[in-house]
Amino acid sequence: MPQSRYFTALPEAKLQCLLCPRACLIPPGGRGCCGVRGNRDGTGEIAYYGAITAMQVDPIEKKPLYHYRPGSYILSVGFVGCNLRCPFCQNWHISQMTPKERIPNRYYSPQAIVHAAQVEGSGQIAYTYSEPLVHLEFLLDCMACAREAGLANVLVSNGCIHPDAAQAILRLTDAANIDLKCFSEDTYTRILGGDLPTVLAFITQAWKTGVHLEVTTLVVPELNDGDEEIDRCIDFLASLSPHIPWHLSAYHPAYTWKARPTDPERLVSLTYRARETLSYVYTGNISSPLQDTACPHCGHLLIRRQGYRIDPAGLGLQQLKNTYSYHCGHCGNAVPIRGTLRNG
Ligand code: SF4
Repeated sequence: MPQSRYFTALPEAKLQCLLCPRACLIPPGGRGCCGVRGNRDGTGEIAYYGAITAMQVDPIEKKPLYHYRPGSYILSVGFVGCNLRCPFCQNWHISQMTPKERIPNRYYSPQAIVHAAQVEGSGQIAYTYSEPLVHLEFLLDCMACAREAGLANVLVSNGCIHPDAAQAILRLTDAANIDLKCFSEDTYTRILGGDLPTVLAFITQAWKTGVHLEVTTLVVPELNDGDEEIDRCIDFLASLSPHIPWHLSAYHPAYTWKARPTDPERLVSLTYRARETLSYVYTGNISSPLQDTACPHCGHLLIRRQGYRIDPAGLGLQQLKNTYSYHCGHCGNAVPIRGTLRNG
């Protein structure tokens, strides 16, 4: 069983898990809120090490990542459990569980996952679908193995873990899409079971570490779609860089949240609002021209997207040995895109 330094021993064989802000107190035989990290006779247990609930090849745009290797495909693996309790979770059938439930899964070693990516011809692996960070020890092993094989690591996460664990993961991460679920401490704590300052610190850390960073917010009516709250998200992202891509995705009723779906007009209007400050803001889960990338300097269309297919006809490329840099094909303005581009 893998050992973890994120457990602290307490009297009466209890343990405290310090991986995320929930700081679960776990009695012998129990599990923490994520359902993954437990206490077996006073010893930290990492249940589901290598248990994969889903494995498939996706367009990278589906993560969503629009500015990292656009048009490429990525082997995506999903896990069991989550440390948050978002009542509108779109993947609740694998993220939300009780210890008695058994979610169908299959065990893979890190080497087997890397091998699967190579067989599929994918130069990258995404850790995604439910929350990968509660499987920190497996993630570190798998990411190290992928790096050694020359594959890139992509993290899709809620970003809700303590900074030293975050640092260990981010050192092995090439690109990340992190959820910023709202900008209210009360909503994070009371409704989602998370912690806003921890998430902001994770996003900041990812940016400062040099990881390619994109951010996603699921826009849920009357929960996080007020102008003031959206403005606070905008100000935070702009304080790091106005060029960080931000995906505003439409919510559809799921799990226990029954509110009406996001009004597409409201989503479009929030996207325009954000584009006044941020260079690359996109709508998600609806069909709209705001899925396209336009030059923030001259407005020229750079990448058109239809579903997950891309047409980068407006983008200029300069290649120096193995380094690629992109610019607007009309005005020459630099465009922050990393990696090679494939016509999808
Ligand atoms: S990672 Fe899991 S067990 Fe650890 S504190 Fe968070 S929810 Fe609790």
